[in-house]
Amino acid sequence: MRHHDAIIIGGGHNGLVTAAYLARAGKRVLVLERRHLVGGACVTETDVFDGFRVSTAAYVNSLFRKEIIRDLDLPKHGFRMLERNPSSFTPLPDGRHLFLGPDARQNLEEIGKFSTKDAEAYPKYEAMLERVALALEPLLTTRPPNLLRPSLGDLWRAWKIATPFQKLGTDGMAEAVEMLTGPARVILDRWFESEVLKGTLATDAVIGAMAAPSMPGTAYVLFHHVMGETNGKRGVWGYVQGGMGSLSEAIASSAKAHGAEIRVNARVKAIIVKKGRVAGVALEDGTEHLAPIVASNADPHVTFEKLMAPSDLPADFLEAIRRIRYDSASLKMNLALSELPDFSALPGLAAGPQHRGTIHICPDQDSIERAYDDAKYGKPSAEPILECTIPSVVDDSLAPKGRHVMSMFIQYAPYKLAQGTWDEMREPFADRCLELLGRYAPNIRKAVIGRQVLTPVDMERIYGLTGGNIFHGSMHLNQLFPMRPAPGWASYRMPVKGLYLCGSGSHPGGGVIGAAGWNAAREILGTW
Ligand SMILES: Cc1cc2nc3c(=O)[nH]c(=O)nc-3n(C[C@H](O)[C@H](O)[C@H](O)COP(=O)(O)OP(=O)(O)OC[C@H]3O[C@@H](n4cnc5c(N)ncnc54)[C@H](O)[C@@H]3O)c2cc1C
Repeated sequence: MRHHDAIIIGGGHNGLVTAAYLARAGKRVLVLERRHLVGGACVTETDVFDGFRVSTAAYVNSLFRKEIIRDLDLPKHGFRMLERNPSSFTPLPDGRHLFLGPDARQNLEEIGKFSTKDAEAYPKYEAMLERVALALEPLLTTRPPNLLRPSLGDLWRAWKIATPFQKLGTDGMAEAVEMLTGPARVILDRWFESEVLKGTLATDAVIGAMAAPSMPGTAYVLFHHVMGETNGKRGVWGYVQGGMGSLSEAIASSAKAHGAEIRVNARVKAIIVKKGRVAGVALEDGTEHLAPIVASNADPHVTFEKLMAPSDLPADFLEAIRRIRYDSASLKMNLALSELPDFSALPGLAAGPQHRGTIHICPDQDSIERAYDDAKYGKPSAEPILECTIPSVVDDSLAPKGRHVMSMFIQYAPYKLAQGTWDEMREPFADRCLELLGRYAPNIRKAVIGRQVLTPVDMERIYGLTGGNIFHGSMHLNQLFPMRPAPGWASYRMPVKGLYLCGSGSHPGGGVIGAAGWNAAREILGTW
């Protein structure tokens, strides 16, 4: 039995961030991760295909907070972002295509191929997002006010939050509130007329969500994806050199440099509570580790319903935790390729702009609605929405020379099937997705030399994500900000003394942001 100042359950990127900040403050920290590697859903795995490095879950980054990169000196620990230009490519069945990216002139020309009106509106739409982002982004790294038991500090926090909204004025505030609560489709339909542009933008609104763009709340999911930057460029997504795991490894390396101890293959079985306060954790191998502070990076269901006895928690809190929705419909397919996809809309086997960014197989918003309709009734989409990336095009450390690694993030594959099991559906559904991609890039079937298919059930089993939900609980307004993980408990401090939640199940939610981990560390250290 060893004593530490703080124990972190789970070495996901957020848990590692908490560990690093605590270690820098001189605390003796122990991280216990159940898998054989750290990173959680932000990993690079080397044992999937021989000779390939695969970002098996998360695959692109933009959201990770720049303050954390600076504080933890992550570039010194090997973290580097690779930019992508163009950032997206949408091929169409009729042979046309749309590129979008950081270059305003290229966007004007590209969108202008479909609609002059949209080409002119696009920079104004981006400026609107930027305006709202400037108001909302500081909230990501702010402790949400307690609406149930407000202290004077909470009133001050609420006032501070309201101020940037007030500065937006009547119209701006209406825009911001619609962004927080409305359907993405209504907003996109108001701004644009060309279906290919709306379809491309709408995919961000449904990523990881069991929802269609016409449903309230999806505008926030879209917006959540624009509150980041790559190398100082706002709203731009990029690849982490060496795969997403290089980010987690850099955080772990920074934590270790300040004395944190990180153990893998260490599954926590129970959080030990004595006399109403946390005392440590018990591992599955029978060992116990003691500490007055335990921060859990596991999701709220795992933390409170699996690792704790109901008698250790207030009944109303536990009820609120049980009510959290984890519905999901995302499937991830990782492919080793012998050659690049040869798109009919822009032919070529040599690496070109069509291979560099995110490839959207989604011609319009109605396709997303139809794909969702299937999922609504418990069926994997007959024509799913595919988002593909080939990071090896800009990072030659990921695949043997001449070969490539491709990731396909696919909606909708509902966790709960009306008929059959995911073990029966896994390979037929993967075939369906490749057949669909093959309509746009006919060489894809023969190019695949290895494939890994991760259904929502696999994501739960492998990464510990309840219901396969990639965000540790869906990102609906009733599960965000002062309500995450439960109303009255959004300060990272949980109802048992010494217990904290430091993962995506707390504010500001899912994605590789690091903010939950950083905010939790500041709450523990009292350094907000
Ligand atoms: C397929 C997929 C694709 C995604 N794509 C992107 C993307 O491209 N960009 C992006 O920004 N976000 C993406 N996301 C979302 C993002 O990856 C996650 O929201 C984020 O990584 C969660 O980080 P976390 O540290 O909060 O939790 P996690 O990464 O879930 O970490 C929790 C850790 O706790 C460990 N753990 C759980 N229970 C125990 C226990 N009992 N004992 C010990 N350890 C335990 C788990 O093994 C895990 O390592 C994706 C997610 C998935 C699944």
